[in-house]
Amino acid sequence: MKIRFLLLGWVMLAHPLWVQAASENRPLVIAHRGASGYLPEHTLPAKALAYGMGADLIEQDVVLSKDRVPVVLHDIHVDTTTDVATRFPDRHRADGRYYALDFTVAELKQLRVTERISIKTGKAVFPHRFPPKMSSFQISTLAEELEFIAGLNQSTGRRVGIYPEIKQPFWHRQQGYDLSSAVLAVLDRFHYRSKDDPCWLQCFEYPEIKRLREELAWRGRLILLVGTAKTGENGTDYEELTSDAGLQRLSKEVDGIGPPLSRVMTWSQSSPGRPALSNLVQRAHACGLRVHPYTVRKDELPSGCPSLDALHAALFSEAKVDGVFTDFPDLTGNWLRHEK
Ligand code: CA
Repeated sequence: MKIRFLLLGWVMLAHPLWVQAASENRPLVIAHRGASGYLPEHTLPAKALAYGMGADLIEQDVVLSKDRVPVVLHDIHVDTTTDVATRFPDRHRADGRYYALDFTVAELKQLRVTERISIKTGKAVFPHRFPPKMSSFQISTLAEELEFIAGLNQSTGRRVGIYPEIKQPFWHRQQGYDLSSAVLAVLDRFHYRSKDDPCWLQCFEYPEIKRLREELAWRGRLILLVGTAKTGENGTDYEELTSDAGLQRLSKEVDGIGPPLSRVMTWSQSSPGRPALSNLVQRAHACGLRVHPYTVRKDELPSGCPSLDALHAALFSEAKVDGVFTDFPDLTGNWLRHEK
C-alpha cells in the first residue's frame, strides 16, 4: 500500500507538456504491461508509475479466471509471475503448469505477484529489473484496473487511455470460455464503446477480430497484432494479412496493426548501427492503417541495434510509426519530447 501512495504522489508531478501529446498527433507512448521495465508487469504500482511517467495509453493483457472474471495477466499460466506453485502446489495440470482458468478470482487474489522468472531456470528474465520475490504485489481484475485508471484520470484531469489485449481467445473457447464477450462487458461498464473513447482493443487472432466486429459488434478502435511467425493461432495467416491485398481488406475491419519490431526493421552487421527498414509501415499507411510495433526494451535491444536512442530514431524519424509499445514509457516519452 505504501508504494502505491508514493507512486500516486509522483503522478501529480507528471510532465505537463506531455498531457497534450496525443492531441498534437505525436506518436503514442503505450506502456507495455505498465512501466514493466521498473516494476512487476501488470501490477497496479506498475500502472501508476506508467501513468506518472506520462504514457498516453496503458496496456492490459486479459485472460479469464475459473469464475469467468477477466483478470489482467500476460499469460494463461500464472507460474512465471506468481507464487502459485508454493501456495497451491497440487493445482497444476498434467503438463505441470498452473492455469489462471483453474483458479477463482478469490484464489488468484491470494497469490503474490513477482517480477517475471523463467520457467526453465527459475531466474529473472530481466536480471537488472525489479528483484523477484520482493515487496508485495497482487493480481488485478480488469474492472479494478480500469477503475484505477479512471480514478487517476479524475484526480489529474488527464485522459490516459487503455489498450486491452484479448489473450488466446481460441484456446479459451476450446476450454468452454468466451473471453471476448466478458472483456467487452467490462469495457461497456466503463463506457469504452466507440472510437471517440480512449481505448484500443488488440488481438493476435484474425478470426476473433472478425468476430469482435461482426458477431459482438465492437465499435471501438481495434488493432490486429501480427506475430513473428508466418501463421498464428486459429488459422491466422500473417503473411497474407500483411500483403497489400490483406492490408486493404484489414483497413475495413481494424484501425491498425501491431507488428513486432522485426517486421518493421532489421539491423545488420554489414552496416553497423544502421537499420534496414521494411516497407510494412508505408504500405499500411497507404491503406489508412496505424502502426504500433512492439516492444521497446532498453535491456533487450533488437540484435545489431546499437542503442535505445538509435532504436527510437529509427522507429519515429525513419519508419514513422504511429506509436510504440514500450517497457520504458519515460525513456520513449523523453526521446519524443526532445527529438520531435
Ligand atoms: Ca500484450
